Parts: sequence; C-alpha cells; structure tokens
Amino acid sequence: MVLVTCEHAGNAVPPEYAGLFAGAEGLLASHRGWDPGSLGIGRRLADRLGAPLLATSVTRLLVEPNRSPGQPGVFSERTRGLPDPEKARILEAHYHPHRRAVVDRVRAWTDRGERVLHLGIHTFTDVLDGVVRTVDLGLLFDPERPAERWFCEAWKPRLDAAAPEHRVRFNEPYLGTDDGLTTWLRTLFPDPSYAGIEIEARQGLVGSEPEQRRLADLLAATIPPHGPA
Ligand SMILES: [Zn+2]
Repeated sequence: MVLVTCEHAGNAVPPEYAGLFAGAEGLLASHRGWDPGSLGIGRRLADRLGAPLLATSVTRLLVEPNRSPGQPGVFSERTRGLPDPEKARILEAHYHPHRRAVVDRVRAWTDRGERVLHLGIHTFTDVLDGVVRTVDLGLLFDPERPAERWFCEAWKPRLDAAAPEHRVRFNEPYLGTDDGLTTWLRTLFPDPSYAGIEIEARQGLVGSEPEQRRLADLLAATIPPHGPA
C-alpha cells in the first residue's frame, strides 16, 4: 500500500495568528514558509498511484509538522517565544492532526498485515546560503532499513534511464535519518512493514503546474512495482 503525504504543502496563516506574521509576506512566500510545488506533485502522484494523500495547509513557520515532538525546530522564531499554553493550542490544532492522520493510516494497513510505502513529498530551494544545490531529485531513506534501501536502489536506475537530465541522489540535500515524520514513524513501525521515503525536488525544476505534473508522472512511471521479497 502506498501513502503520499505533503508536510509543507501550504503557507496559510490561521486568522488568530495573523498578528505574528504582520509584514512577513515575503518570508511566508519563501521556502522557509512552505515547499512550493510539493502539493502539485503530491496530488498528481497520489492520483496516478491510486494512493491517499494527506497534506497540511498551514505554514511551517507556525508549527513544523516534519519535526518530532520536543525538537527545537517544532516552533520557529515567530512562535518559539509564545507562552506554553498557546504553544499547546497550536500543537493540538495544527501539528498533531496531520501526524495522527498519517500514523492512523499506516497503522490501519500494517494491522492488516499490509506493507506500507510512505512517500513524503518535499521541495528544496535551488540556492541555500549562497550555495547552489547540485541535485535535482533526492531520495531520502534510512540505509539501515532494508526495505527503504531496496526501494531507492531499485528506483534510482529507473529514474536515471527515464530522465537522464535529472541529477538523482540518495540522501541529498538532506539525510533520510535527519529528524522528520518518516524518522518518527520508523520508531513506531518496523522494517519491512513500513518504508518511509522522502522525495525532495529542486524548486527550479517544479516551478509550474505542468512541471509538477511531469515530475509526478515520471515518479509514478518509474516506481519499482514490487517491494523486497
Ligand atoms: Zn519540506
């Protein structure tokens, strides 16, 4: 079973928190506010694979659903200083619902004995801190998890053959073992019942909806048809 998620799909600010982001339109629109293009890829990919899609809509600058509870990155510089009861309200309204929905979906399948392939769709900025990224598409996984390694090692040559112009890399521009939703899910669901792979696309590659659809179609056409035995 395949599940597609987008943790950084939108950059909406709930009305009650508008004051925290007054004058921050540029920040919200930037890669720090969300992953532009990720929802377009995720929607199309889920559609092509017949998979459910679970996506957020609120900016990660309010609360970061791709960080584990208690990690410093859960709250941004805009929300870190809020009183604890306010932070608790934000977590309950805008953090836990997405993560619970993902865990519940995975659990419903694994309880039936199904193996789950979770694809978390992200995009990354072409230039970070003045450094031009030299990767177009990253497959992020935990090398210690055989099912994840199998999927990525089977997928990359298929992507390379179908789209040799894309620079596909393992665990770039981030490590699959960095703190994130897939990392958290690995603590709940063992290999091989759960395989969590994050797909990171360079934003310059997926700036328009046709480009987002094209990448999703490429992913859907090349995804390895069977999991490891
Ligand atoms: Zn992201």
